Amino acid sequence: MSDCLFCKIAAGDIPSAKVYEDELCCAFRDIAPQAPTHILVVPKEHIGSCAEITDANAALVGHIFTVIAKIAAEEGLTGGYRVISNVGADAGQSVPHLHFHILGGKRMPDQMV
Ligand code: 5GP
Ligand code: ZN
Repeated sequence: MSDCLFCKIAAGDIPSAKVYEDELCCAFRDIAPQAPTHILVVPKEHIGSCAEITDANAALVGHIFTVIAKIAAEEGLTGGYRVISNVGADAGQSVPHLHFHILGGKRMPDQMV
């Protein structure tokens, strides 16, 4: 999608602090971190949110989760971490391109969830 922020970041058209990239996805540091480690993992293909995960792109999403585990290990998140994907307005999704937040490096609040 030509006017999608995360499509542009994934393509390298907008700079970001990338920590991982392969042919299917990339990961970069969130511009407004909410934890000592706050990384976003996105598919290079435009998918709007988890609501658009189908049999056709499920393998890509599975791949992204293997990448999440690798990044968490590389970032030294041995105490654990949280993976979040906001879907739609009620969840506060602000960028309409599927992304998984990796949050770690501190004890997360007991709520949510
Ligand atoms: P959402 O609110 O959709 O779940 O998450 C979007 C995330 O993208 C937010 O945490 C926000 O800080 C981050 N973000 C928004 N614009 C940019 C940007 O231009 N670069 C980076 N690295 N992160 C961004
Ligand atoms: Zn996009």
